[in-house]
Amino acid sequence: MPQIQQLPAHIADLIAAGEVVERPASVCKELLENALDAGASAVSVELEKGGLTYLRVTDNGCGMAADQLPTAFLRHATSKLRTASDLAAIHTLGFRGEALAAISAVSRLDVFSREPSSDAGARLHLEGGVPGEVTAAGCPVGTTICVRDLFYNTPARMKFMKKDSAEGAAASAVVTQLALSHPDVSFKLLRDGAEVLHTPGNGELLPAVYAALGREFALSLLPVSGSNGDVKVSGFVTKPLAGHGTRARQLFFVNGRLVKSQLLTAAVEEGYRNRLLKGKFPGCVLHITLPADAVDVNVHPAKTVVKFVSDKSVFDAVYHTVTSALDEEGRPPKPAEKPFFQAMTAAEFRARPDAPAPKNAVEIPAGRAIGSAPARTYTPAPVPAPVPAAPVLEVRDVAPEPGKPFTAPAPRPGTVYHITPPAAAAASEPEPMPEPEPEQQAIEMPDAPAREEAPWRIAGEVLKTYIICEDGDGAVWLIDKHAAHERVRFDALKASPVPPMEQQLLTPAAVTLSGEEYGAVLENLPLLERCGFRCEDFGDGTVLVRALPDDVPAAEAASTLEEMAQKLLLQRADPETLRDELLHTIACKSAIKAGMTSDVTELAALVRRVQSGEIRYCPHGRPVAAKLTRYELEKMFKRA
Ligand code: ADP
Ligand code: MG
Repeated sequence: MPQIQQLPAHIADLIAAGEVVERPASVCKELLENALDAGASAVSVELEKGGLTYLRVTDNGCGMAADQLPTAFLRHATSKLRTASDLAAIHTLGFRGEALAAISAVSRLDVFSREPSSDAGARLHLEGGVPGEVTAAGCPVGTTICVRDLFYNTPARMKFMKKDSAEGAAASAVVTQLALSHPDVSFKLLRDGAEVLHTPGNGELLPAVYAALGREFALSLLPVSGSNGDVKVSGFVTKPLAGHGTRARQLFFVNGRLVKSQLLTAAVEEGYRNRLLKGKFPGCVLHITLPADAVDVNVHPAKTVVKFVSDKSVFDAVYHTVTSALDEEGRPPKPAEKPFFQAMTAAEFRARPDAPAPKNAVEIPAGRAIGSAPARTYTPAPVPAPVPAAPVLEVRDVAPEPGKPFTAPAPRPGTVYHITPPAAAAASEPEPMPEPEPEQQAIEMPDAPAREEAPWRIAGEVLKTYIICEDGDGAVWLIDKHAAHERVRFDALKASPVPPMEQQLLTPAAVTLSGEEYGAVLENLPLLERCGFRCEDFGDGTVLVRALPDDVPAAEAASTLEEMAQKLLLQRADPETLRDELLHTIACKSAIKAGMTSDVTELAALVRRVQSGEIRYCPHGRPVAAKLTRYELEKMFKRA
C-alpha cells in the first residue's frame, strides 16, 4: 500500500507558484498591483530578455519595515485582510497573500524597501523562496523588487515560455493596461534599456492614452462621459473614420480593472452602427464604474471576466454615452438654451407676441425636393400638436381613397403629410397630425430667433457632385451631395415605424436572380415588404416586384432588388441589422446622384443639415463633408 505523505513545503510552494506566476507578465502584474496598493504615485518597470532574466519594479509607495520583509514573502502573508468580512475582497481584489511567496519561489529575488519614517532602508535576498538575512541598505522611500532568472528552478515551466520578444510584449501590455487604469500614477517602462512608455500620472486619461497607445490613436479619439443610474461611463472612443481592423484597441476597465466583456463590446459597437465602414471596429478606452455589489470581477490572472447584476443598465449606459458623443461630434458649440423648436411647440412659437403674420404656404421651387415624392406645396396643418423631434423635410400628399373612410397614416419622422381635400374627416382623427417643419417656417421668418448661426453661404456646386460653402468662421466646406442626401434618406427611413410609401408598378418588374439570391429573397418577403418592396415568386429563379418605395426610380427596381438580395445572403444575422442594410440600399438608390443637376434649394437643405452637425457620415461610414480652414488655404497659397 502506498504511503501517504504531506508534500514538502518547497514542493507545495512551487505548485502554488505555478498557479500565480505563469510568465513574466504575471510577475509584472502582481508587483505593480502591490505598488499601487502601497499608494505609489510613480512606478517604473525594467525588463531584460522579456523579463525572464531580469525584471525590476520600483515604486515610491509606503514601503515595508525591515522586520516585516521576511514575513511579506511567507505564503498567505498579507497586510490587506484583517477580518472574515474582508474575505469577500479576495474575489473582487485578489488579495491572497501569495504573490511574493510565489514569485520568490521560482526566482532569485532582491527586495529593497524603506518606509517614509525610516532613515535607512533594508534589503533581503531570497533564492528559490529561501530568505537570507535582512541587511541595512541605502535606498529611497518605497520598494524595489528585482526578480532575476525567473523559473530557473522549474525547467518544465521554462519550456512553456515563448520568445523573449513575446514575453516582453505581454509584460508591456500589463504595464500599459495598468497605466490606463491608473492615470493618476506615473508609469515608466524600460525594455532592454530603452524607455518604451512613460505616462505623466497627472490624473488625466488622455496623456496616458497618448503615451501608452500612441499619438495616432490618441488623436483619433473623442471624449465620452455619461451615466445611467449608478453606472458611470467615461473615457474615449475613436472617431468613426478611425475604425480599426480588429477589436484589439477596445479596452474596458470596470471599477479600475481591465476586463473582457462581450456585453461592453456589443454596447460600443451598437453605438457605431451605420457610422463605421464595413469590417471596421471602433477603438475605445472606457472606464465603467459602478457599485461593488453590482458587479463580480473574477480576477484570476488569466481571466478578466466580469459579470454585472444588471446587464441592461450597463449596456444602456455605455450605448447612450457612446451614441451621444458620436452625435455631438463636430457639431458647432451650442448656446446653453435650447433651440426654440425644442423649447416650444410650433403653436406656441406662432402665438408668441413678436410673431409675424403666419404664412400658410411655402413654395418649394421645382426640382426634386429632398427626400420626397415630387410634392411641391407645403401647407402647415391647422391642428397644434407636438413638433416632431427631428427636423423634417419630406412633404407627402395623402388623399383619401374614394368611398373609404380616411385614415391618416401613422406619423413618420421626417415626413410632413399634406392632406388634400376632402379631409374634414381628419379633424376627428384621434391621431394628431404632425406639425409643420420648423426649419421651413424659419425660411419665411428671417428674423425668427431660430438661428444662432447664420446659414453657411453656398458658393456653388462643382463636378455636379460637391457643394462648396463658406461658414461663419471663414472656413470652406465641401459637401458630397449624394453622400449627404443618402444619410438624410437613411435616417428618415430608419426612424420610420412604418414601411416607406410605396409606388405600385403598372407593369411588375420581373427580376431573375441567382439561385441563392432567389432563395434569400423568398425567405425574406415580409422583411422586404417592411422596406417598401412587395414581391412575389414567379417561379424558376424569377421574382416579380409589384411595388417599391416611391422615391426609388422604377427603372432601378431590378438593380435594387439584386443588391438587397446580396445583402440578405451575406447578412443572415439579426433582423434589425438586416433591415438597416436594406434601407442603406434604398437610401442610396433614392438619393440624388453625383453627376445629376440639383436644385439650389435641395443643396441648401443638405447644407443646413451638415451645418447643424446632424449628418456627418454616409450610412457606409464615408464622410459627408470636408473642411478647409482659412489657415489651410492660406498655407496652400503661401500666405501664412
Ligand atoms: P497581497 O498583495 O495579496 O497582500 P503579496 O504577496 O502580493 O500579497 O504581498 C504581501 C504583502 O507584502 C502585502 O500585503 C504588503 O503588505 C506587502 N507588500 C508587497 N509589496 C509591497 C510594496 N511594493 N510596497 C509595500 N508593501 C508591499
Ligand atoms: Mg499582492
